[in-house]
Amino acid sequence: MTPLWTLSCSACDASAFADGTPTVCTACGAPWLIRYPAAPAAATRADLAGRPWTMWRYREWLPIRDDEAPVTLGEGGTPLIAARVVGEELGMTRLFVKDESQNPTGSFKARGLSAAVTRAVRAGVERFTVPTAGNAGVALSAYASRVGLAATVFTPAGTPPRILEQMQTYGAEVRLIDGHIGDCGRASREYAARTGAFDVSTLREPYRIEGKKTLGLEVAEQLGWELPDAVVYPTGGGTGLIGMWVAFRALLKAGWVEGARAPRLYSVQSSGCAPVVKAVLSGADRTERWEDPQTIAWGLRVPAPLGGALMLRAIAETGGGAVAVPDEAMVDDQRLLAHVEGIDASPEGGATLAGLRVLLQQGAVSPTDRVVLFNTGAGWLYRS
Ligand SMILES: *Cc1c(COP(=O)(O)O)cnc(C)c1O
Repeated sequence: MTPLWTLSCSACDASAFADGTPTVCTACGAPWLIRYPAAPAAATRADLAGRPWTMWRYREWLPIRDDEAPVTLGEGGTPLIAARVVGEELGMTRLFVKDESQNPTGSFKARGLSAAVTRAVRAGVERFTVPTAGNAGVALSAYASRVGLAATVFTPAGTPPRILEQMQTYGAEVRLIDGHIGDCGRASREYAARTGAFDVSTLREPYRIEGKKTLGLEVAEQLGWELPDAVVYPTGGGTGLIGMWVAFRALLKAGWVEGARAPRLYSVQSSGCAPVVKAVLSGADRTERWEDPQTIAWGLRVPAPLGGALMLRAIAETGGGAVAVPDEAMVDDQRLLAHVEGIDASPEGGATLAGLRVLLQQGAVSPTDRVVLFNTGAGWLYRS
C-alpha cells in the first residue's frame, strides 16, 4: 500500500517514498523529516473531544493509516501542572511543568518508541536494537515486549541500576559499553549489521520524532489551543525540541492555534556536556563534538547529536536560546520541584528550572511570559 506520507531530507533537497524501515537521507546522511500531504483541517479539532488522552488522539497528525492500530501503552496525555510555589518565588504567574515522568516507562521516550515500534512492526521488523543513555532503552524494551519481539539495548556502564533493572524487567538484553552514547551507537549499528536487528537510534529512525511532536500538540490543547511564549527543554539528542518545533509550526500553519509565532525554544544542557549551548553562543550552524562529556543527567550526555544542526535551526527560527547549568544547580532544583510542587523530577527536569533562572537573569524570559518547563523523566529511576 502507498504510505500517506513521504520522507523529506532535513539538510538537502532529497525526498523519498516512506515504506519499509527508512533510516537517514540516502543522499547526504542527514535525518529525514516526515512530510504529510496536508495538515488536518482546523474543523477536525472538534473530533478530539471524545478520544482517550493518549498521544494517539492526534492520529491525523501521526504516521498511521485509518485502518491501523498503534502499538500503545497509553503514552502521552501527561499533566501540564501549574508550578505555583516555584512561580511565586520567581515572580511568575504563568509557569507550568509538563510532567513527562507520568508516561509508561517513566519518561517522554515512550512517545517516540510507540510511534517507531508501530511502524517497524508493520514493516516486518523482527528484532530491535538501540543505543541509549537509559530511558530510550527502557521504553524500547517495553514496546518490543508489547509486540513479542526481542530488544537489545546498548547503554554506558554506569547507567543507574534502576534503569538497567527496568530494561531487564521488560525482557530486553542489556549490553554495557565502556563509553558514552556515541560509543553505544557504534556498537548498536555493528550489532544491527550483523544480526539484521532494526536500530531505532535517535534521528536515524524518522518516526520517533513524530511521536515527540505530540508534546507540542498536547501543550497547545492543554492551554486551550494557545501556545506558550517560551518552552524550556533539556536537550540531548534533540528529538523533543525538534519534534515540538515541527509541531508548533504545523499547528500555526493549519490554523489550529491563534497567533503568528511559535514559542521561543530554549535548550538547557549540563555545563559538563553542552555542544548545543556552545554552538548557539558562537553563532555556529552545527554542533561540534564535546570532548569528555560528564553529567549525572544521563539524557543530556550526548556529545555529538546527529540532530545538532536541526536543533540550532529550531532555536534560531523561534528566537530562543540555550543555557548550560552545572549539575549541582540541576540537583538543587530537582529537589525543589519534589519538595514544593510534588513533582519527582529527573535531573534533566531539574535542569530546566535551573536554566529558567538564568534566562530570567539574562532577561531572555520575562516574568510575565507563559512558560512551559519539561520534566522529561522520573526522578526515582536515577536513585539506587
Ligand atoms: C533522552 C532524554 C532527554 C533528551 O532527549 P532529547 O532527545 O534531546 O529530546 C532529556 N531528558 C530525559 C529524562 C531523557 O531520557
